Amino acid sequence: MIRRLIPLVCAATLAAPIASAADEVVVYSARNEHLIKPLFDHYTAKTGTAITYITDKEGPLLQRLKAEGARTPADMLITVDAGNLWYAAESGVLAAIDSPVLNANVPANLRDPQGRWYGLSERARTIVYSTERVKPEELSSYEDLADPKWKGRLCLRTSKKVYNQSLVATLIARLGEDQAEQIVRGWVDNLAAAPFSNDTKAMEAVAAGQCDVTVVNTYYFGRLQKKQPDVKLAIFWPNQDSSGVHINVSGAGVTQHAKHPEAAQKLLEWLSSAEAQGDFAALNLEFPVNPTVAPDPAVAAWGTFKADALNVNEAGRLQADAIRLMDRAGYR
Ligand code: FE
Repeated sequence: MIRRLIPLVCAATLAAPIASAADEVVVYSARNEHLIKPLFDHYTAKTGTAITYITDKEGPLLQRLKAEGARTPADMLITVDAGNLWYAAESGVLAAIDSPVLNANVPANLRDPQGRWYGLSERARTIVYSTERVKPEELSSYEDLADPKWKGRLCLRTSKKVYNQSLVATLIARLGEDQAEQIVRGWVDNLAAAPFSNDTKAMEAVAAGQCDVTVVNTYYFGRLQKKQPDVKLAIFWPNQDSSGVHINVSGAGVTQHAKHPEAAQKLLEWLSSAEAQGDFAALNLEFPVNPTVAPDPAVAAWGTFKADALNVNEAGRLQADAIRLMDRAGYR
């Protein structure tokens, strides 16, 4: 196993020893090393199961899994966004598993209805606004950001990012293509600047006065808040009288050609457990999916909100439609 794995990972990160013990798990992860290594170390110390992992961007990891086919050393894929998890499942690289433990620990709307992937952390894609130029009473919903009152006041991340594709996919699921397109066109009309390459830059533009409001994943707001505790930005939870805040997940599945499927399933079950969920979420300032586990105090301080109950799988199913819609609407 190790002889075959090493040449493949020369450009990536290989860590943790491979034990000669019976149990080992090989993980391909699009979630960064610093977010997974503490959990893997904990699991290895507890169980003796050796975990070998590589990290890379979600696209290359999935291409590699597909190219390796039955020869893949990977037992588990960890990636971010339901759109990517859906695509991996549709590509046939994930095995359907039926686990009472996972079904109990992960709410039904945060996992694949066919059991090919399970959400492990929840993130909210929400509105962040300037506390100097916006009163929270002026805000209400994602749809309202298309209103002309926000003309020249909105900043957005690029539509190329799966996070925005998933957000628009859920607008389509909820409102239909025509209404969703009108909203996206309204957003484009209201932009104060060309779309930004990441969420942090969009928030920095709001803080700098280039625009007044943006839409980001909460953990990026948390990171900015840790770096600049006095930043004049705040979170607003939209759609509280309607669909709820758009949520998404990072998650994982056991691969179709896993060499250690039982060990991989046990690791996945543990990652969803009360013992692991606090750290799994807190390391990236996300929300645990396991409802018995409280979020990190810094996350809890943002307050509670009503989340969209739509199965996040819909974000994947409608992803291609969302990409075409954003293109038509001129959202770059
Ligand atoms: Fe992210």
